[in-house]
This record gives sequence, structure tokens and C-alpha cells, in this order.
Amino acid sequence: MAASDVFVIVGASLAGGRAAETLRQEGFDGRVILVGAEPERPYERPPLSKDVLRGEAPDDKVYLRPPDFYEEQDIELRLGVRAQRLVPAEHSIILGDAEHLRYDRLLITTGAKVRQLNVPGCNLPGVYYLRTVADAKAIRAAARAATRAVVIGAGFIGAEVAASCRVMGLDVTVLEVLPVPLQRVLGEDVGNLYAQIHRENGVDLRLGEGIAEFRGAGRVEEVVTSSGTRITCDLAVVGVGVQPEVDWLEGSGIELQNGVVVDEFCATSLPDVYAAGDVANWWHSGLGERLRVEHWENAQNQGIAAARSMLGKGEPYAPVPYFWSDQYDLTLQYVGHASGQDEVIIRGPRDPRSLLAFYMRDGRLRAAFGVNRPRDITAARRLIRNGGEVRREQLADEQVDLRRLAKGG
Ligand SMILES: Cc1cc2nc3c(=O)[nH]c(=O)nc-3n(C[C@H](O)[C@H](O)[C@H](O)COP(=O)(O)OP(=O)(O)OC[C@H]3O[C@@H](n4cnc5c(N)ncnc54)[C@H](O)[C@@H]3O)c2cc1C
Repeated sequence: MAASDVFVIVGASLAGGRAAETLRQEGFDGRVILVGAEPERPYERPPLSKDVLRGEAPDDKVYLRPPDFYEEQDIELRLGVRAQRLVPAEHSIILGDAEHLRYDRLLITTGAKVRQLNVPGCNLPGVYYLRTVADAKAIRAAARAATRAVVIGAGFIGAEVAASCRVMGLDVTVLEVLPVPLQRVLGEDVGNLYAQIHRENGVDLRLGEGIAEFRGAGRVEEVVTSSGTRITCDLAVVGVGVQPEVDWLEGSGIELQNGVVVDEFCATSLPDVYAAGDVANWWHSGLGERLRVEHWENAQNQGIAAARSMLGKGEPYAPVPYFWSDQYDLTLQYVGHASGQDEVIIRGPRDPRSLLAFYMRDGRLRAAFGVNRPRDITAARRLIRNGGEVRREQLADEQVDLRRLAKGG
């Protein structure tokens, strides 16, 4: 790499921020330009639905680095600017102000955007989505002045918002269109135990119930469900998933399919163009399938991996996927990658406050889900990394020490 090289990163959040840092840590001395649509320097989103939403943590807790870090590292921040187009033939991107920015290597870390509802009243004030710091502050202000909230969607973000609103003392109703929340990720049995957590914490959880309409005179006052039930509320938060942020890449010739398609080195179908984080649909050589993961650890580690690949130091990126979610006083953790067809084994009592479930296929451990079981999840991750060869009886038996098993004992 030459000192005259220009490496451009589009998307100044977790994956992009970590990639920029890594380029410097690895000794790259060319220009590093980090372009971000948000006005904020790189920050992390997990606190937004948790302590930041509840007002229990200072707002600046979220930033990856202090403000002067980027100048010290000679990382050029171009914030509040959106990349509009990628022109591979010119090795350039076109920014919102029509500037052409030339790159020698480009990293795409544009993440994901919230899926929007399109029902009557969806644009009423008081109907919120949660993706950014600005969203979290707006919901926090509304929740402080409210007594009743409706959350649409019982996925992890919706569930965390519901839990935070309960902790803040609000009455909370959650609408979930599926008969079992998170059924695709957790399976029916574990999904029902997950539902129990929210009911035990006072959430009015309505399953098999979608949203038909938001109503209100100038501001949301009522939600009408798909079965016609009317629920009074002071605010509504929609958490119905995200989709990869790839609109700006349409027509560039880059291969897009459920995000930006990349190989195990984070390389896209275009020369000198890489992608990482929530936007990347990558080839996991260990699993032998494509994955697009919308979780913190992946965004951080894949951003780092992509930066190394950009420098010609890449290694196949094939981690055991992991994510966590904090709800009430519980930490939920998931390792691995299961599918709806896998056999589910619950170890020990079916206690939603201390739960351990395993997902097996073809005699191999594929994934594990735990509530307040961090050590067991660490052991399960090791077992999966080592090939997942373990007998179902050993997983089911509380007397078998998982950590010893993971160490091969
Ligand atoms: C409220 C919330 C709570 C979460 N909690 C957890 C958790 O507990 N555990 C967990 O594992 N994960 C959690 N996540 C998920 C985790 O935060 C994401 O996986 C992670 O933020 C992805 O990082 P990223 O850098 O790939 O993309 P993003 O964070 O989506 O960042 C992409 C950035 O690119 C910018 N951008 C988009 N398009 C353009 C463009 N054309 N030009 C310039 N910039 C552009 C965006 O504005 C954004 O700043 C949570 C997410 C949210 C929203």
C-alpha cells in the first residue's frame, strides 16, 4: 500500500468505525475517509433500547471513541453526508453534494434501515421507530410524559423497548403478528418461554395480532389491531425488523441479494470494493452457507476483518455467530446458527429466568440460547467451534459439566 492510497469507508457506525481504526492499527499510512449519513461520530446502538432509553446512562456512553480520536489518527470524518451512487468504472462514489470521491479501496458499511409500516395513521406524531441516537432521545422524552405505550413487534428490539418502558413505569401492550414470538430463531417451545418473561413483567402481550391503524387527533391516541381491538396509548414504537441499506448501490453493477454479496474475505463482486456488518451477506465457509447477521459482535469483527482484507492481510471470516439482548434484569444470549427444523433440547428446569436450550441437527450442536447462563453459553460456543460433536443426553443432563465437555474432558 502506498501513502498516496485513498481508502473510503461509507457508513460511519460500528463496522465502519472499527474498520477505520484497524487500518491505522495495521500501519496503513494513506488517506482514510469515513463517510456517514448521520451527524454523529461512530457510535454503538445496543444502549439505545436499554439504559440510554431509560435515561440511566449518559448519552455520550454510546460513542466508540472520544471526539479528538479521529484527528489524532488522521481519519477524515465526513459526517451528515450521504453517498448517493457508486461508479465502479471511475473508482468513485458520488456524495449528496454531488462531490465525486475517488477511492483505491472502498468499504461499504451502510448497515440496515428500519422496515416502515404502511397503515393508516402511520405518520402521526407519537409513532416512533428506533435505530438512531436521535430516535432514542425522542422515545425517551415521549415515554417520560406517557403512561401507556404500545409496541408493535416482539422481536429483540421491540422486546427491549417494551422492557425499558415497563421499567420506566408505563403500561405496555405488545402486538406480535406471529402466534409465538421469535419462533423462527428460538423454536416454538423456547419462544413460549420467552413470551412468559414479558407476561411475568406485566406486559400485555397479544400474539397473533397485528396493527391495522393508528388513530389520533394530531397525535397518536389509539391503536387498532388486526382483530379490531382498540388500545389507548400515548406513544407507539414500531419494531418490525430492518432491511439492508443498499438503495444507493442500485445500478452500480455490484451483486446484491439480501444485502451486498461478499465472499469469506468480505470482498464484493467488484474489484477493490468490500462490505461488512449488517449490510453484508457473506459466505461462511465453516457453515457452508450465506449469512447476513444484524448483531453487534458481527458488525465489529467483520469491520476489522474487512479492513485487514483491504490491506491484503485477510483471513477467512467464519466465526460462531453470537448476540445478546438485555430485558429487565435478564441477559439473553444466543450462539451459533440454527434453523427451524433443528431439534431443541432444554437442559434442566423450564425456568424462563434461568434457561438453557440447545439446537441440534444431524447429531451436531448447532446453536444454544441462554437466559442468565453466560458461562454455559461460553462453553456451548466452544463446543460449536470444535465441531459440535456431543450427545443429546449429555446436553440434557444438568449433571454433565458443559465446560469440561467443551475442553474435551
Ligand atoms: C436499538 C438497537 C439495539 C440493539 N441491541 C443489540 C444488542 O443488544 N445486541 C446485539 O448483538 N446487537 C444489537 N443491535 C444491533 C447492532 O447495533 C447492529 O448490528 C450494528 O449497529 C450494525 O452495525 P453496522 O455498522 O453494520 O450498521 P449500522 O449500525 O446500521 O450503521 C450504518 C451507518 O451507515 C450510515 N449510512 C447508511 N447509508 C448511508 C449512505 N448511503 N451514505 C453514508 N452513510 C450511510 C447509517 O446512517 C448508519 O450510521 C441493536 C440495534 C439497535 C438499533
